[in-house]
This record gives sequence, structure tokens and C-alpha cells, in this order.
Amino acid sequence: MTKEFNIQNLIRENVKGLSPYSSARDEYVSDGSEMVFLDANENPYENGVNRYPDPQQRGLKAVLAEQKDISVENILLGNGSDEVLDLIFRTFCEPKVDNIISLPPTYGMYKVLSGINMVENREVLLTEDFQPDVEAILKAVDEHSKLLFLCSPNNPTGNIFSEESMMRLLNKFNGLVVIDEAYIDFAESESWVSRLSDFPNLVVTQTLSKAYGMAGIRLGICIASKEVIAALNKIKPPYNVNELTQQKALKRVLDVQSVKEEISNILNERERLLKVLREVSFVESIYTSDANFVLAKVDDATNRYNQLLAEGIVVRNRTTQPLCKNTLRFTVGTTEENKKLIEVLNKLT
Ligand SMILES: *Cc1c(COP(=O)(O)O)cnc(C)c1O
Repeated sequence: MTKEFNIQNLIRENVKGLSPYSSARDEYVSDGSEMVFLDANENPYENGVNRYPDPQQRGLKAVLAEQKDISVENILLGNGSDEVLDLIFRTFCEPKVDNIISLPPTYGMYKVLSGINMVENREVLLTEDFQPDVEAILKAVDEHSKLLFLCSPNNPTGNIFSEESMMRLLNKFNGLVVIDEAYIDFAESESWVSRLSDFPNLVVTQTLSKAYGMAGIRLGICIASKEVIAALNKIKPPYNVNELTQQKALKRVLDVQSVKEEISNILNERERLLKVLREVSFVESIYTSDANFVLAKVDDATNRYNQLLAEGIVVRNRTTQPLCKNTLRFTVGTTEENKKLIEVLNKLT
């Protein structure tokens, strides 16, 4: 970074001055001994969820910290990555003053959150091969640029961003570089979490919604320096990760073998799907995927989308996205689902 990096210069003034809500479960933390809890106005009759959940999700964080070789203080959990991303906006971006940089075509939530939070979204298109245009990004930056979103592997294009361009951006950008790793478990490259100590401005977000198969429980993960996490914790709603989610998530992340097997099956299915797509007459090109979906350019995306729908198959039409004219995004399903898709694709040709 050009200047000495100081996280305090990035945090909004009102957030710096805040004292967070102190919940009953923050004030008295159980050490496991038999205590009588009369502090939170809960209903005392046991049904599994009559007590408030742990506001700091200690059990789940301890396992994640060990698996990712980081400290518990480097982790914040949220109600999906969507909440985590919103907390990042609200902690660092002053409405109507600050701006963020996003790189379309990419995940739609960065733009939505910038709109909700009244923070200017400076869009810098990816290059033709869907890589960050480093020079153009650095030109778009000014002293109010607080966040730069790098979605890698990127949605909807599926590719991972080059290490070299990400390094350059981490070194040159004076705000926080948020690397959205929702699909990292499908990629061969290593997570940027291992580089946390090299870059004080690095924030990584992950999720249990994709490779871990738990989109329904809403569990998003933010990994960053202790200072960034402490700032986010100040504005986090006290009980943002509910008890059922904490229990389910803990069980799932401990079941390393099942997760691994499912990822491996999905990757095999992805290769099978790629082979078939190459033979489909109306498919014009297929983009490399480091994720659990494949983006393909077809002759007429809206027409093909409707034809697939009529056959009972729902894909995502991405034709309105920049650089994505006439593209469809196919999520990799089970062997059975993919068989049905392949049959239908061949019928349409
Ligand atoms: C699916 C997805 C997420 C996941 O969001 P959750 O709120 O955790 O379900 C995050 N980022 C990207 C790029 C995604 O595609």
C-alpha cells in the first residue's frame, strides 16, 4: 500500500463512537456449570430453543478457526454472506460520501447493497476474458473508495481471478479488498485466508450455502484482521445467527468426509456436463468453470431458456448482464438431474 494502512481511518465516525448492545448472554457467559438463568426473560420450559443463542457462536467458530488455521478473533458469522456484506457496508461506508468498486458481470448483491446504503457503486467492467482490469480499477479509485469487491471464483462467469492481478490490487488499494469466496471449495486454487497476515486490508467472505449444501440455514462467514472483525462486531445484531443454524452448521462442518464427497461428485458431474455442452449445436462457447456452475453462450438465450422451462428445467438467463449477451448459467445438479438436462438439450438440437 502506498500509505501506512490504518483500519481506524476507514471506519465510519459514528461506528467508532458506538457502544454495542450488551445482551444478557454477553454479560454472563456460562462456564458449563449448572446455573439458574433468570437474566434474559426467556420462557424457562425446555423445548430445545427456549434460550437465546450464543451471540458469539463460540462452538462453531472454534471448529472453523481450527479448520482454517486462524484465530476465533479473525471470524465473524452472519445470517448468510448477504448479512456479512451488509455489515461491511454499514461499518465502513459513509452514505452519500464514500464509494465502492465492483466489477461486473458479478454477483448482484454488491450493487443492491450500495443502493440500500446510499453508497456510490463505481463499476469497472471485467476484461473480455473476465479478469479484473487493474489499471482501470486503480483509475476509478479516489480517497473515498472504501471497498473493492473481488468475487473469485466469479458469479456468473465461473472463473477464478488471476493471483497476480489480485496481489496488485491488494498492494495498491487503500481501502478494504473484499474477496468473495462463495465458490472457493470447487476451485483448485487455495483460499486467500492463508494470506491474512500479509494484507491488513484483506477481507474474505465464505458461506455454507454452496459447497456445504446449507443454503437454507443462512450461515455466512467473514474472515479478516482482528481489528476489522472487532469493528463489524460493534454493529452486528446480538443474536444474528439463530440456535438451529448454529447446531446444524456445527454438525455439517464436522462432517468433513461427506462435504468432500459431495464436492467431488459435483466436480465429476461438472466435467460430464461440459463434455455434453460442447456437442450441443446451439451452444457457441463454454467458459472455464472453477465453480459448481457453467456459463455457456448460446444462439438465443431467451428462446433456449423458455424451451428448457417448457421441459421442466430452470436455468439462469444471464443475457442482460454486461459481457454476457446470450449466456445461460447451468448449476451442476445430481447425476439424475444432469441426465434429464442432457436429454432435453439433445432433444432441442
Ligand atoms: C451464492 C453466493 C453467495 C452466498 O450468499 P449467502 O447469503 O451466504 O447464501 C455469496 N456470494 C456469491 C458470489 C454467491 O454467488
